Amino acid sequence: MDKLLILHFGELSTKGNNRALFIDCLYSNIRRLLKDYGEARVEKSPAHIYVSLPEGYAREVEVVSLLREVPGIQRLGLGYRLGRDIREIKEASLEILLRERPASWKAKVHRADKSFPLDSYGVANEVGGYVLQNGGPSVDVHDPKMSLEIEIRPEAAYVSYEEIPGAGGYPLGMNGKVLLLLSGGIDSPVAAYRLLRRGILVECLHFASPPYTSEAVMDKLHDILRKLNRFQAKIRLHVVPFTALQEAIYRHVDEPYCITVMRRMMMRIAAKASEKYRCPAIATGESVGQVASQTLESMKTINEVTNVPVIRPLAVSDKLAIIEDAKKIGTYEISIRPYEDCCTIFAPRKPKTKPRIEEARKMEERFDFAPLVEEALQGISDFVISAEEGDIDI
Ligand code: ATP
Ligand code: MG
Repeated sequence: MDKLLILHFGELSTKGNNRALFIDCLYSNIRRLLKDYGEARVEKSPAHIYVSLPEGYAREVEVVSLLREVPGIQRLGLGYRLGRDIREIKEASLEILLRERPASWKAKVHRADKSFPLDSYGVANEVGGYVLQNGGPSVDVHDPKMSLEIEIRPEAAYVSYEEIPGAGGYPLGMNGKVLLLLSGGIDSPVAAYRLLRRGILVECLHFASPPYTSEAVMDKLHDILRKLNRFQAKIRLHVVPFTALQEAIYRHVDEPYCITVMRRMMMRIAAKASEKYRCPAIATGESVGQVASQTLESMKTINEVTNVPVIRPLAVSDKLAIIEDAKKIGTYEISIRPYEDCCTIFAPRKPKTKPRIEEARKMEERFDFAPLVEEALQGISDFVISAEEGDIDI
């Protein structure tokens, strides 16, 4: 018999019209993900998405581990599709329980099709009685070691015996796209991952200041994005030439305000770029309190230059939790490779932890920065990092 993976969606995300959109989006994402797994067949229905695997399919473990990471799947049930016939349900249940041999079990019945002659209680009773009479394991309704989930739908009955937790969240692409400020550090790739898990696509913007920052950072970004390709198959990266602007800032702005003004310039550029790339929001890897430029006062002063929403997925995350995620997605080892960041190169000895808007504005009036902002925007180079081609295209 074909094995069936029954994909369950989160309840919250599946209300009203959103439901069809959610399922369509998840369905096409899964089809794309499994396109090289020809024998794994993906089907959708209004209730679930099913992936059927032929009996003895050698790549079952691989398919399951791929699906576990797909945003939008709350949990995966492992089971079978049966006819809508109580005898068939009883026999399949017994076969599973004799094979899996849990210390105890209980039936969890969901009768989605009310025209089925037995109600949920009746089905559970019939199955329980049959299993016990035929030497199956005993029932424990309070603390079973295995839940046998039986679902009766208009087209078929389904029985599943193993629950595998999924990534949760929303299908990728369902919640639009943001422009993520990607540095070479630990945090911004984790921010990307947290966005992707919520169904938000990312497009990346990086500020490079050669020769102060080395060319090696490009390899780093490339390697990081290749790790993220597991979640988003094609990621655009835009690299902003930031050197001239940064030099001007350090020439004209008082040292304690350099970081603040630099970040305000980054935000101005990001805001313009977000329009160009059709991203309604910007995202960063900032986390409140982590460094001087990440205090609430500092965020307020930096944010003042734009009204494009800035999403900070890590705003209140623990550094250890961030590192744990970075290790999980495989970006940690890449991020800790030594490199010069444009922020660290010019890092002032005593940055302002509570920079004031008026003060930042005053410093910006000392020099006409606008043409340099424009130049930086004009000089952006675009790359695509893609799972398929496996390399950077310009
Ligand atoms: P990260 O580990 O992501 O580099 P961080 O802890 O080093 O973060 P900062 O260097 O202060 O913190 O940067 C905060 C955020 O600003 C980053 O997460 C990133 O979103 C953005 N950022 C910093 N430097 C750059 C850069 N050179 N290019 C693009 N974005 C940047
Ligand atoms: Mg950094």
